[in-house]
Amino acid sequence: MILMKDIYKTYANGVTALNGINIDIKQGEFVYIVGPSGAGKSTFIKLIFREVKPSSGTIVIGDMDLSGIKERKVPFLRRNIGVVYQDFKLLSKLSVYENIAFALEVIEESPKNIRKRVMEVLEQVGLKNKARFLPNELSGGEQQRVSIARAIVNHPKIVIADEPTGNLDPETSWGIMKTFEEINASGTTIIMATHSKEIVNTIKKRVIAIEDGLIVRDEHRGDYGYEI
Ligand code: ADP
Ligand code: ADP
Repeated sequence: MILMKDIYKTYANGVTALNGINIDIKQGEFVYIVGPSGAGKSTFIKLIFREVKPSSGTIVIGDMDLSGIKERKVPFLRRNIGVVYQDFKLLSKLSVYENIAFALEVIEESPKNIRKRVMEVLEQVGLKNKARFLPNELSGGEQQRVSIARAIVNHPKIVIADEPTGNLDPETSWGIMKTFEEINASGTTIIMATHSKEIVNTIKKRVIAIEDGLIVRDEHRGDYGYEI
């Protein structure tokens, strides 16, 4: 499902972020990406939805080989991938409903289907009664739920989360993790970069550790493995 072979990434400023990454992630897996700051976790994640292009190596996502992919095909790749960020990245002037509907409007779904699907995902993340609110009228945890709803509204095969609980208190974080587990239980692959030792050591999943642009550990039901 997600295959990387000999991936190197050197940014324009000469910084090498990834130094020969090989990985195979199957459909339906739940994977934590751990490692120190600057190790290459965000770069690894961004390669998957082509926010970043590798300097060399092969990436295959589903049946798409990204090596030769035309720019006009990139939106098709991204339709299969939902992304959740640490800082939510919601549009502040749009309501909760509109933030989520936006993802469907760009693919020209019918208004009737949009309404049905948006209310469905809002129900799934427990925010049906907040549809008309603006993002800044919600708590951090609620805003993250909106961004999760936006990520899954297209039924993506993969959900990528870059430190999704990084701005949330522990109690709220557990609720967010439960939502990710439910999404994973329906067959969606989850790739989550995290610095939370408590989460990784409690909700056991595959752990891929990256240090200095290399995978240094890849364990089924692994530990966080760092002190902080
Ligand atoms: P992590 O997510 O593990 O903190 P990153 O992938 O963000 O690591 O960064 C890996 C290295 O690449 C760091 O040295 C970082 O400064 C550098 N880097 C990340 N993004 C860019 C960029 N757009 N341009 C130049 N250097 C970058
Ligand atoms: P995060 O770790 O929250 O995902 P980023 O990926 O944006 O943050 O940045 C990670 C690291 O890469 C930071 O140290 C940042 O300074 C560096 N970085 C990001 N973009 C650039 C860039 N365009 N040029 C140089 N360094 C960058």
